[in-house]
Amino acid sequence: MHDLTVSVAELLGRPGEYRDISINKRLPGVATTLARLADDQELEADLRIESVVEGILVTGPVQGDTRLQCARCLAEFSSDVQLRVCELFVTPGHDAAGEDDVYRVVGVEIDLEQMLRDAVVLALPLKPLCRSECKGLCASCGHDLNYGACDCKDDDIDPRWAELSRLRAQLEG
Ligand SMILES: [Zn+2]
Ligand SMILES: [Zn+2]
Repeated sequence: MHDLTVSVAELLGRPGEYRDISINKRLPGVATTLARLADDQELEADLRIESVVEGILVTGPVQGDTRLQCARCLAEFSSDVQLRVCELFVTPGHDAAGEDDVYRVVGVEIDLEQMLRDAVVLALPLKPLCRSECKGLCASCGHDLNYGACDCKDDDIDPRWAELSRLRAQLEG
């Protein structure tokens, strides 16, 4: 098996036939701004590769370890991602005209890598939180408020008041 390329020669044209495969593979570079798939751990997938009229349907659970950065306090932490894929690889002649972003059966093979990358990226959290009650950082001094209050005073100027005092200063010009 070259990378994640799977031969489906014995399935093509036989709707209803299927094969189950297990995948353990590192997929470096699967990431969003604050989340990434751990590139030192293997992604695990148990996939059913099934022949359907339009091509090959790939379904099954996928899971992997993730490294995340909290969207509030920026602390790094580990978690995992779990998802189910259900993707069709179309055989030539079955893709609707103009559809560019479909997975395709190429020759007698399907390449699972791009499909897995796409699916995992979509499952990564957009705003990871180290914990739901994370207090985040002080907007003035950057202190991590999870470790207690900072020295910033309550009367530090709120942007709304700053705008008001600027207007007043103009009026009093
Ligand atoms: Zn946090
Ligand atoms: Zn502060």
